[in-house]
Amino acid sequence: MATMESLIGLVNRIQRACTVLGDHGGEGMSLWEALPSVAVVGGQSSGKSSVLESIVGRDFLPRGSGIVTRRPLVLQLHKTEGNQSEYAEFLHAPKKRFTDFAAVRKEIADETDRITGKSKKISNIPIHLSIYSPNVVNLTLIDLPGLTKVAVEGQPESIVEDIENMVRSYVEKPNCIILAISPANQDIATSDAIKLAREVDPTGERTFGVVTKLDLMDKGTNALDVLEGRAYRLQYPWVGIVNRSQADINKNVDMIAARRKEQEYFESSPEYGHLAHKMGSEYLAKLLSQHLEAVIRQRIPSIIALINKTIDELNAELDRIGRPIGADGGAQLYTILEMCRAFDRIFKEHLDGGRPGGDRIYGVFDNQLPAALKKLPLDRHLSQHNVRKVISEADGYQPHLIAPEQGYRRLIDGSLGYFKGPAEASVDAVHFILKELVRKSIAETQELKRFPSLQSDIANAANEALERFRDESRKTVLRLVDMESTYLTVEFFRKLQLEPEKNSSPAGPNMDRYSDNHLRRIGSNVTAYVGMVCDTLKNSIPKAVVYCQVREAKRSLLNHFYAQVGRREKQQLGKMLDEDPSLMERRETIAKRLELYKSARDEIDSVAWK
Ligand code: GDP
Ligand code: MG
Repeated sequence: MATMESLIGLVNRIQRACTVLGDHGGEGMSLWEALPSVAVVGGQSSGKSSVLESIVGRDFLPRGSGIVTRRPLVLQLHKTEGNQSEYAEFLHAPKKRFTDFAAVRKEIADETDRITGKSKKISNIPIHLSIYSPNVVNLTLIDLPGLTKVAVEGQPESIVEDIENMVRSYVEKPNCIILAISPANQDIATSDAIKLAREVDPTGERTFGVVTKLDLMDKGTNALDVLEGRAYRLQYPWVGIVNRSQADINKNVDMIAARRKEQEYFESSPEYGHLAHKMGSEYLAKLLSQHLEAVIRQRIPSIIALINKTIDELNAELDRIGRPIGADGGAQLYTILEMCRAFDRIFKEHLDGGRPGGDRIYGVFDNQLPAALKKLPLDRHLSQHNVRKVISEADGYQPHLIAPEQGYRRLIDGSLGYFKGPAEASVDAVHFILKELVRKSIAETQELKRFPSLQSDIANAANEALERFRDESRKTVLRLVDMESTYLTVEFFRKLQLEPEKNSSPAGPNMDRYSDNHLRRIGSNVTAYVGMVCDTLKNSIPKAVVYCQVREAKRSLLNHFYAQVGRREKQQLGKMLDEDPSLMERRETIAKRLELYKSARDEIDSVAWK
């Protein structure tokens, strides 16, 4: 029997732990729902709260006429050992121990008002109350608003239906034991409690019928037909109850006296005397407790199966969101480097193929650069007019004698200056592609998702590195262009001199130095030379860009970062691994639930098979 007792106590503890973790109902089949509980159902003023109180043996529920219970009250009774003093505790105020039960009543009323306002509205958000006492049996009871027939002043029309739906949502769960309260001074055929219980439990295998107010029946009538199961058959015997009347309550008749009075009522009753040992609130409490034990015992295999399944699911989820990291600096550094490597791997896949994006770099070299080079205003620079201007300015007061050496140089220099634009534009275009790939790679690194700080640290480090590579690359391509200006290809001009001048006589001593023909020839020579350089740069700029930016990004994107991280202290490393608070919370919740489920399994193992 001791094991039985501890079994319900255990389920109670598990249920309590579940509620603390917010695990009651909600998505999926929670452990809470797998465990049995007792819901008190009945019409308004049928005596539900009174029955509850007499089971507990304490006055603590708000009372009054009309609708008083407006939120479900989940009441967990925990039997404590020895002669410890009684106390109550609310889930919404976990630190506060109530020893004054009048204060408990006030807190229930206040907490009801907190959600519903001082209106007559109802709310299906439960209030959770635990009572620890050596004088209670282990039980979880749920007090529900009374079923009504009409909305009274100040209530919305839907209230009748709302209450019924709320009550139904509790009693339709297969693990709910229904305590159906019907007042004896009303025909059982009109009982709201029995009507609803029959709907959700047609065979009556989880319904306990309770008849209250036996003392209020009309003289000459009795409830024997009901109590002896003739009026309405249930699987379990009906229990008759005599609660305190309103007058008793007003007179502050205490619970002990009330129980004694109730027992005397049955023992001395000519009608119910033969049933006295099976009547009254004390008997009801024992009956429920025994039934609960039997149910739990029967459900143990499925409860264990549920626990095991949930443990597997929680473990899988922990794996998915990442296990907690070790607190020592070494483990932290290791994690950071692992994350960097994971990111780097994905970044390289973008460049080398396998993931998209690297092809856009080739697009810069194959389309963008040639198109930009083609658009350069070389025609304008080498127009007849400008050639004349540049040549004559270069010649000064003395026209050139054979070939305008200075003029050629200036024209070529001027043309080559235009190449700087497209060269720098290629550098920038590739820079932006690389930056975009960093962004993408960060987003695609699943492992990094849980560390927003590290995510931005890596992104910043990578972008800084890319800036450095860009500066280097820009210097290099500009240098390529400058190199073309500082030393011209002699070969090209030697070949020109060997070619005979077409369509005109060689420049004789009396030839006009600035004739159209002569200038056109100079212009086309420069155009040809610049074209040759353009072809060279079209090839060498991509080489420089790849060398300075792409190759470096691939091999040393995070090198600076590694060096920095290596010098950091443990505390700084810990900061880098700051996680998304909601994720940490989630992990903590999962860890707590895991703990709960594991200890529940251990406890069940240790008591269930004795
Ligand atoms: P609830 O609305 O179903 O929770 O009903 P209560 O427990 O608040 O009871 C409503 C009223 O009926 C109160 O005034 C109680 O004192 C009274 N009452 C409940 N049960 C009995 C009973 O068995 N005998 C007598 N005389 N009055 C009762
Ligand atoms: Mg009530």
